[in-house]
Amino acid sequence: MARETIKHFHRLRNTNSQKDSFLSTHNISVFASLTLSLSLEMETNATVAINISDDLYGLSGTKSDPRDLPEPDVHIVTCDALRIPAHSSILASVSPVLENIIDRPRKHRSSERVIPITGVPNDAVLAFLRFLYSSRCTEEHMEKYGIHLLALSHVYLVPQLKHRCIKELGQRLTIENVVDVLQLAKMCDAADLYLKCLKLVANHFKAVENTEGWKFLQDHDPWLELDILQFIDETASRKKKTRKLREEQRLYLQLSEAMECLEHICKEGCTSVGPYDMEPGHNRGPCSKFSTCQGLQLLIQHFATCKRRVNGGCLRCKRMWQLLRLHSSMCDQPDSCRVPLCRQFKLKMQQEKKKDDARWKLLVRKVVSAKTISSLSLPKRKREEELGETRSSHGIRTFRL
Ligand SMILES: [Zn+2]
Ligand SMILES: [Zn+2]
Ligand SMILES: [Zn+2]
Repeated sequence: MARETIKHFHRLRNTNSQKDSFLSTHNISVFASLTLSLSLEMETNATVAINISDDLYGLSGTKSDPRDLPEPDVHIVTCDALRIPAHSSILASVSPVLENIIDRPRKHRSSERVIPITGVPNDAVLAFLRFLYSSRCTEEHMEKYGIHLLALSHVYLVPQLKHRCIKELGQRLTIENVVDVLQLAKMCDAADLYLKCLKLVANHFKAVENTEGWKFLQDHDPWLELDILQFIDETASRKKKTRKLREEQRLYLQLSEAMECLEHICKEGCTSVGPYDMEPGHNRGPCSKFSTCQGLQLLIQHFATCKRRVNGGCLRCKRMWQLLRLHSSMCDQPDSCRVPLCRQFKLKMQQEKKKDDARWKLLVRKVVSAKTISSLSLPKRKREEELGETRSSHGIRTFRL
């Protein structure tokens, strides 16, 4: 039934030959005149009159007594030719669009006023009228006719009802109804609801693709289909980019940890590697970053004994060399620093007057900021726990420089 309403709107859009914005305020008057011209035809057709109970106006339980209402002076006619008596003063006071229709001069003074509300089921029209009279809508009606009520509240400019529909439809989105709601949200300029639908479609596209709603959309609005597919594509590439950034950040964090371990090994020693002038075995239990520290110790031991060295093309030595250079670039106390080659690297850079190249500088900056970010984003105790947990996860072998 919702799709009938959407189809109805599509038809109107084609009639108005104004793409994409037929429901904008400007076009509502077109819509209104369309309904007016229809009303003349309606008058000649046989219609089913309905005897309204007091409750049609939704006044039971409120202070207003339906008996206070004047005689109905207008009829709302639905697409099934159901005639619902109503009061022009009330309709006009709630909806400026209905007011407009009511105020238009009639062709025949004697003919009775008829306002067709078509494209939605009878009961949706009744629920709409009930809201106009009482500003209320039951949960049950919202559940059944939320989509229609959204369309009606938009076309007839009833903002309170529109807000309520947007909110409730947003809470009732399912795989089955999401494409219908999405189309209507777009037609009714309900941007938040539209975005909510888009996200649901993007996250469950495999399932949504098989729904009737999606097939209907493909047949009736290929432009919107394209918009949705583009949104899904952009979401996916955004996710990919975020993941890549996160991985990079992890790498910089590992490097920053390696820098800490390097200083700690060269200053106080750790398990099997330490400064030459320090007693082995003294204070050398595994430290809190042992997985990184141990990898680094193995690398240092290799570096000290390797026969091929950096110039012989040894990749492990080259990696160690780069870690030492990285340390030197970050070190702010080269005179008292105990890390091998720290001062030599600094001197060499000064002598050659050669500034570090841009990529290297960027790397240094990222490693420094990774450390700052991680120490800011975690409270101290949490950070200590975190470090304990990652102990066994990544060794120095995961570094690629
Ligand atoms: Zn250590
Ligand atoms: Zn080597
Ligand atoms: Zn240093």
